[in-house]
Amino acid sequence: MNSTSSRRGFLGTLGAVAAAIAAPRKLFATKAPASEPSAAAAGLGQSGNPYQELGVTTVINGEGTMTTLGGSLIRPEVEAVMAQAARHFVSIPELEVAAGKRISQMLKLPQGYSAIVTSGAAGAIQSGLAGILTGDNESLIKQLPDLTGMKSEVIIQKTHRNPFDHQLRGPGVKLIEIETHEQLRRAVSERTAMMHFTNFANSAGQIKVDEWPKLAKQHNVPCMNDAAADTPPVSHLWDYANMGYDLITFSGGKALRGPQCAGMLIGREELVHYALLNNSPYEDTLGRGQKVGKEEIVGMLKALELYLSEDHDALAREWQQRLENISAQITKIPGVSTSFFIPEVANHVPHMQITWDARISLTPSQASQILRSGQPSIVIGGGEGRPGLAMNSFMLQPGEDQIIAEQLSKVLRQHSA
Ligand SMILES: *Cc1c(COP(=O)(O)O)cnc(C)c1O
Repeated sequence: MNSTSSRRGFLGTLGAVAAAIAAPRKLFATKAPASEPSAAAAGLGQSGNPYQELGVTTVINGEGTMTTLGGSLIRPEVEAVMAQAARHFVSIPELEVAAGKRISQMLKLPQGYSAIVTSGAAGAIQSGLAGILTGDNESLIKQLPDLTGMKSEVIIQKTHRNPFDHQLRGPGVKLIEIETHEQLRRAVSERTAMMHFTNFANSAGQIKVDEWPKLAKQHNVPCMNDAAADTPPVSHLWDYANMGYDLITFSGGKALRGPQCAGMLIGREELVHYALLNNSPYEDTLGRGQKVGKEEIVGMLKALELYLSEDHDALAREWQQRLENISAQITKIPGVSTSFFIPEVANHVPHMQITWDARISLTPSQASQILRSGQPSIVIGGGEGRPGLAMNSFMLQPGEDQIIAEQLSKVLRQHSA
């Protein structure tokens, strides 16, 4: 109901921050560019909500950090430093090296580890592998995805296959699926470029997250861990480097709340350097289409800084409290019950499962559709493989838990016997 106004309030805050950072710039002799971030006085953005002006529905997000919904919302402080970054030219490779240094310091990475900011974790996967394949050989870099003269296979546990291994296939390699230790031993050959681990699939595979890098070392093959969505807990940001993974990927635009199109490739200095050589801004590279701007690089660093200084326990309590608020209201309806769970890895935040009995004649997917097409539009997902609806609250804005409670109660009551 008043989600539009609360969202406006939120964007209004961003505008105020932008205005606040605009002021000190007046100290500089150079003329400020005409387009102040806060100066959308006319044209697109004049209402404070460009989406509304475009006729695109904004949604209340009870599903989490979904890229299809825009991932996450950056903090005002990130927006402010991105606006600062937008006002200068800078050498991008120099900035990437400095960003890597800052990331290693902030995360206290092991000796010899660095990082670059990539176009999301997906970009990190592809350029990390490309770097392993080519090293700093310029003609090999230009040649990808033609693998003539390079290694051509990546080993992955069968249960670790997922849509993001398309980024491994991008450079042209073949994925070799294994399940057992014995199959791994037999799969390793002079063609093996890398051993890939999908962090969220840890429990599904026979070889676990701490053993994979040890085996990789025994076989003298570099290994990568795709941990894109795997904060919280915050310690995951350094755990996998300490376990010995050569490359680790994280999304910037998920729980870290960095720029939506940013991510991090963390790893051994040399491999991170090779990854950058296969990436934008360098031309005639496989990764040239994975551009990261100066604003995203700086914004990613600021987001990480803020994330690290956050009280994560307090946040988890608040997220749980929001769910309990919704639960208290909807369980007043006869037949409705709720339960709580936290996925072991990936989206490791409080979730609530919502089920109801035959007194309510509505399937979970019908309920989900009604909420989605309602006013305001609410997105609540399917049940993470469980019956009923499941939702989380870590991407909700203040007051939105109450809106969900009211809308969901209304829908359930309307279909009650
Ligand atoms: C989200 C995700 C990615 C991609 O991350 P982006 O930052 O959106 O590019 C890769 N792997 C897994 C497991 C993910 O959840």
